Amino acid sequence: MSEGVVVVTGASRGIGRACALMAAARGHAVVVNYTANQAAADAVVAAIEAGGGKAVAVKGDVALEPDVLAIFAAADRLGRLAGLINNAGVVDLKSRVDQFSFERLTRMMAINVVGSILCAREAVRRMSTAHGGQGGTIVNMSSVAAVLGSPNEFADYAASKGAIDSFTVGLAKEVATEGIRVNAVRPGMIDTEIHASAGVPDRVARFQDVIPMKRGGTADEVAQAVLWLMSEDASYITGTIITVSGGR
Ligand code: NAP
Repeated sequence: MSEGVVVVTGASRGIGRACALMAAARGHAVVVNYTANQAAADAVVAAIEAGGGKAVAVKGDVALEPDVLAIFAAADRLGRLAGLINNAGVVDLKSRVDQFSFERLTRMMAINVVGSILCAREAVRRMSTAHGGQGGTIVNMSSVAAVLGSPNEFADYAASKGAIDSFTVGLAKEVATEGIRVNAVRPGMIDTEIHASAGVPDRVARFQDVIPMKRGGTADEVAQAVLWLMSEDASYITGTIITVSGGR
């Protein structure tokens, strides 16, 4: 695997799965992280191996530091780290701010914000030329919610993705001379299982009329943007956030 190892968090399903498969198709060995659905993660690994690639499934909650260390230790066993796709993220049931529980808020921020920053820390420790690394790329998963605010649904989720946007810009500047490019992708309404976890499994069909292109996006359409940002075609791009939302 001459292209190096890519860690994809939350890669058992949805956008992360699409990113993992596409990264493998571009010659990367892939760490397929998941938290609960081992069968789905194993299926991603099997698909990569069937295509002649190399991958390993690693169970781990990105909100827990020991788990994050284990995810990156697994990457070290595969080879040189070349990239991180910081994809794992959760929403919660539709709710107004005056109904949010403390537990909901701490879970959301721990996974979406702290988890992403912890993973980025581990990636920088391995890829930065300041640490003896050979450089690499990080792509963070934001959301159009960061801009829209998601009122009456999940303003906490929107705020967590706003944090991802700010972190993307800050980290990009911090490591710009250390061989690491850091960017983010801001998906709109993408057809994955995340909407079921928000209590609205048919959310994409229900809201597609508000999307200028009048359809939801696919996980593959997001993965294309992610893998382009990671590629040499994007060699002068850092601190940038690409919106993949059908115009929303
Ligand atoms: P999804 O279909 O619900 O898949 C979530 C993935 O993340 C699964 O692989 C899941 O693993 C994993 N995961 C959940 N919590 C985790 C944790 N604490 N640690 C590690 N992995 C964890 O979600 P998706 O729609 O593909 O979303 C992926 C990312 O895109 C998220 O950051 C989301 O906020 C963002 N996004 C999605 C949309 C959309 O419309 N779908 C729009 C904008 C942004 P298990 O299978 O083991 O549960």
